[in-house]
Amino acid sequence: MNLNILVLPGDGIGLEVTREAVRVLRVVAEKWNHQLTLREGLLGGIAIHKTGGPFPAETERLSREADAVLMGAVGLPEFDNFAPEKRPERGLLGIRKTMGVYANLRPVRSYKALLDSSPLKNHLVDGVDMVIVRELTGGLYYGSPRGIYEDAASSGVEGEDATPEIHAVNTMAYSWSEIERVTRMAFELARKRRRKVTSVDKSNVLEVSQLWRRVVTTVAPDYPDVALDHLLVDNCAMQLVLNPKRFDVVVMENMFGDILSDEGAVLAGSIGMLPSASIGAKKASGAWTGLYEPVHGSAPDIAGQNKANPFGAIGSVAAMLEYSFGLTEEAASVNRAMETVLNTGRVTADLRPSGTPATTEEAGEAVCQAI
Ligand code: NAD
Repeated sequence: MNLNILVLPGDGIGLEVTREAVRVLRVVAEKWNHQLTLREGLLGGIAIHKTGGPFPAETERLSREADAVLMGAVGLPEFDNFAPEKRPERGLLGIRKTMGVYANLRPVRSYKALLDSSPLKNHLVDGVDMVIVRELTGGLYYGSPRGIYEDAASSGVEGEDATPEIHAVNTMAYSWSEIERVTRMAFELARKRRRKVTSVDKSNVLEVSQLWRRVVTTVAPDYPDVALDHLLVDNCAMQLVLNPKRFDVVVMENMFGDILSDEGAVLAGSIGMLPSASIGAKKASGAWTGLYEPVHGSAPDIAGQNKANPFGAIGSVAAMLEYSFGLTEEAASVNRAMETVLNTGRVTADLRPSGTPATTEEAGEAVCQAI
């Protein structure tokens, strides 16, 4: 298979962890005889330095041509006080929009070697293996009207004493088709896993959630081999810590997903371990267009020190192989290799090994060897 991939290392530790992720990709391509076409582009702070903007036209063009994009992280402290539209992070919004990725997938799984790193008791975390599917381009973060405004009449006091009252509004809005496409994605994903979808909403209070539940229930009969249940978002927040093993694929609205995926993330032990996939349109082959990146940021506090954990980035490669190229055997091999390395205890400092911590390069090299 031809793997046509755009690599955007970005800023800070993005460069270091992406280097190891690419090394793993090369080993996989060689072992399974795939042709790897890698291009590299600029995104974030480094792009601002070199081109004046966080998402240059050349990167936009390359991202349209690629089958999948592997990203490191963006963000540099020198831009911290800049307006949002001038910051490196604005590059992320640009590329997500260009690629039309409407679902963010966060696999959350426990590793035996890291059970003690989780704040939960071992027996609760051992065996956790779920994917949180968060709708990424609609809902409360995008709906209008939105804003903060002043309104004298609404203070309840009339006449000369009327003082303006300040209001703020955000809108949660979804169309049937927006809900349907992310729901179908969740069901298709479940078919490749343990065939269970949990849909999360707040249908006892919100009309948007009532529509959400209606769409999910309407779509479900097309996937008779997948079990479906519905959970209210508040109950889901509780079940994620009470009984996280009950979940396989969990699908939800944008803000619910933003919050609950961070709760899920804690189960894994360190932020450096977490991969993510943002996927959208389907290609002719049936695979998804995707943007793959570790969950963490550019970590300026440890950048350039060769001590960042590359496993979130390497796990993102596994997700890419599975979702964008349908290479499940290769993906499983990368995940197994990471587990093997974790079991040896030669891991980076964030995982608090008992001996000398491995460097970023050593951890990446160990995964390559294990594959
Ligand atoms: P961060 O994720 O970069 O770092 C938080 C903490 O976790 C730091 O102490 C860091 O050292 C540690 N950490 C993160 N990744 C690690 C890894 N792989 N190995 C070991 N330790 C790791 O979050 P932050 O400090 O809040 O943000 C730093 C910059 O990154 C900011 O500019 C922010 O806007 C940006 N950011 C970018 C993304 C992205 O590119 N998707 C995501 C989050 C934050």
